[in-house]
Amino acid sequence: MKIVKDIPDLRIFLTSVHVPGTSLGFVPTMGALHEGHLSLAKESIKNNDITVCSIFVNPTQFNNPDDLLHYPKSPEEDIRMLEEIGCDAVFMPDNQMMYPEPAVISFNIGYLDTILEGKFRKGHFNGVALIVSKLFNIVRPDNAYFGQKDLQQFVILNRLVKDLSYPINMVRMPIVREPDGLAMSSRNRRLNKEERKNALAFYQALKLAQENLQSGQTVNNTKSEVADFFQKQNKVKLEYFEIVDAETLLDVKEPFGGREVALVIAGYVGEVRLIDNFIIRI
Ligand code: AMP
Repeated sequence: MKIVKDIPDLRIFLTSVHVPGTSLGFVPTMGALHEGHLSLAKESIKNNDITVCSIFVNPTQFNNPDDLLHYPKSPEEDIRMLEEIGCDAVFMPDNQMMYPEPAVISFNIGYLDTILEGKFRKGHFNGVALIVSKLFNIVRPDNAYFGQKDLQQFVILNRLVKDLSYPINMVRMPIVREPDGLAMSSRNRRLNKEERKNALAFYQALKLAQENLQSGQTVNNTKSEVADFFQKQNKVKLEYFEIVDAETLLDVKEPFGGREVALVIAGYVGEVRLIDNFIIRI
């Protein structure tokens, strides 16, 4: 596996391997890799001639300096895992390489930046759009792989690709979970034993909501059941729980008409902010 830190070196490598008739799959990550990340990379390896993963903890998408400071890092382990599954190259630039000077250009993401995560993480999606568009221009993939775990990120990047005519096929991959249901996340490494147990509340709330909706309960009833669930405990702090259209992320109301509905949740376990979601068809 090629390990590349410089943009010019990556371009030279890609020019030699990504020749006409071959397909290039790309998996952008912030490292501290787990099975969730690897499921994206494995899918890319299966369906493309060449797979490139990137590892870059992008400072412009952190609205909370403490979160950036404590973001877990395990580069040697990441390289070992990617090598083991047959990834062709890993791009690991430093801040200077990606932002030789602060970016002046910013993105107006419209309503998608004012709801859900956008409400609580000001500037986050601008940072995501900025880094992913830079990476897309550097790597020029045919297929790009993202997790449903960050559903709003996927919806926004899908719009970015459409609105800016990137010739890239966007692939959304399902959430990989721990055996007890907790969505895998690099941030889970920051949880102590007690917090790790408590973190399951978000998954349990999603299950409760899913059962409610599937048994014919209304959106309002389901939301108040979830609110009750969190009021009865003080182990985690709920930031939001919403029931939205999985494609537009706009509020939905029954009758759902067989569409994909996303149950989205976010909150804190101690100092660590976690997100999760279910997509169901009702
Ligand atoms: P991150 O390193 O957190 O920026 O994530 C990199 C990519 O991996 C994003 O597309 C995430 O949505 C995806 N990802 C993170 N956690 C999971 C998971 N548990 N299952 C599937 N994909 C995931």
